[in-house]
Amino acid sequence: MTRPRIVSETKRSVEEREPPGKSTLRAHEWLSSSSAAAYEEKVRHSIPFEVYLSYRAERRIREHAVRQAKDTLEALGFLLGEVRQWQGREYLVILGVGTTELRSSHSNVRFDPQALPKLFMDLDGSGFDYVIVGWYHSHPGHTCFLSKTDLKTQRTMFNQPYHVALVIDPMNKEIKIFRLAGNSYEEVPFAVFREDQVKNGRNGKPRTRTLKVKPVIPT
Ligand SMILES: [Zn+2]
Repeated sequence: MTRPRIVSETKRSVEEREPPGKSTLRAHEWLSSSSAAAYEEKVRHSIPFEVYLSYRAERRIREHAVRQAKDTLEALGFLLGEVRQWQGREYLVILGVGTTELRSSHSNVRFDPQALPKLFMDLDGSGFDYVIVGWYHSHPGHTCFLSKTDLKTQRTMFNQPYHVALVIDPMNKEIKIFRLAGNSYEEVPFAVFREDQVKNGRNGKPRTRTLKVKPVIPT
């Protein structure tokens, strides 16, 4: 898969902030029974999640995957968000997505190289000071897992401890989030949260938006 290469990245401090409260959380409707059980277990014992997915980002991913699946095509995009910490534990908050025109088939997808400037405009228009925290793509009708190619993408492009891969199957109505683990990968339980009840911006102050990555179009 040909993708933009990240050539520069700005490190920034991790914000100390309480994770979204229980009352703002819900399980994704498309969780498999084992994923739903992991979700329930965490909520029951008040164990914080390592990944929180906002309603807004969830809706955009799902709608994109469903739209593409009408033509049996895969969807693809970046996950935008923040790494935060609370009481010594880091967690990830996915707040938005960025995508553009794709070159897609039923089993393969990549960004259209001609559309990369548009992709980065979409990213910068996300409305917050984002970090690319992973990627999403769909497996229409193939269930959720990381293929060998997906795993290679994860290892080469998303190999930071906080990086995740979200896979969605809009035909089987299944969604899973994965991260690298040793030579393979593992599923990460996550919660969907309503961001309207969560204060935006550091200390409630508006943020300045800066582009965190510079695309290089592979030749
Ligand atoms: Zn895949």
